Amino acid sequence: MTVVSNAPGTVWFVGAGPGDPDLITVKGRDAIARAGAILFAGSLVSEAATRWAPEDCVIADSKDMTLEQMTAWLIDQASRHAVVVRLQTGDPGLYGALIELVQPLDAAGVPVTVVPGVSSAMASAAAAVESLTLPEVTQSVIFTRVEGRTPMPPGESLAELARHRCTLCIFLSITLLHKVEAGLREAGWPGDAPLVVVHKASWPGQEIIVRGTLDTLKAQCRAAGIVSQAMILASPTLGARHWDSLIKSKLYDARFTHRFRKASVNSDQDPGLEKDTP
Ligand code: SAH
Repeated sequence: MTVVSNAPGTVWFVGAGPGDPDLITVKGRDAIARAGAILFAGSLVSEAATRWAPEDCVIADSKDMTLEQMTAWLIDQASRHAVVVRLQTGDPGLYGALIELVQPLDAAGVPVTVVPGVSSAMASAAAAVESLTLPEVTQSVIFTRVEGRTPMPPGESLAELARHRCTLCIFLSITLLHKVEAGLREAGWPGDAPLVVVHKASWPGQEIIVRGTLDTLKAQCRAAGIVSQAMILASPTLGARHWDSLIKSKLYDARFTHRFRKASVNSDQDPGLEKDTP
């Protein structure tokens, strides 16, 4: 049965960021400050993220709710308040059940706004001081996971994706490290390929960074007791901070002219390069 809203407020899907409450966007924080009701994802979003809510705000944890209960709650609250916030971990558009939640709101005529958030992929790279792209090493990033209860669509097995040898940010897979390892090996990654796991990236005082290789990572994570809330980064860029030779980005190259700066020495830039981006 479709629940039809009478005086529709707007439901704001707000990315809360990866854990550190300071990593929410200003726009997201402002939405919280104006919220009449907030439904937060209890298992991952720190309750601290609701610290900017008004005193009389109705705040509920969705961890024990079904999808239907969540949408019914949001629709009901939108009939009472102008701003209702659904607070989600990281960015709402990544593994966040966003569309499943939006469709019933659309059907009920409740307007929806999405405020992006800092994904845990970004927070994990930042925590480890890693760049997910490097000139002439890799210029591409894949956000993926291995198959758990959710099946992987054809062509998206880790073995197939890893053949690109680009950066892989692997979500939702820390308890399936054996599958991660098998996929990377099948794609031809060597045993000494560097991997990084970041547990609770950005959570004040709780972040753990494990640096290992394809051969060692599983045992290291087991020893560290990491079984949840962890990002696996697999990339040929890992550890570049300590490399002796690095091919520098064209953006800051003195020979490279772009929109904001004229080349200071003769340019030998590839004419195919875009003029205003690295
Ligand atoms: N929308 C979220 C992802 C939700 S899926 C985002 O953009 O980050 C949940 C998965 O995200 C977890 O299994 C883990 O792989 C990752 N994750 C979420 N928060 C994390 C954190 N603080 N540190 C490391 N990984 C995290």
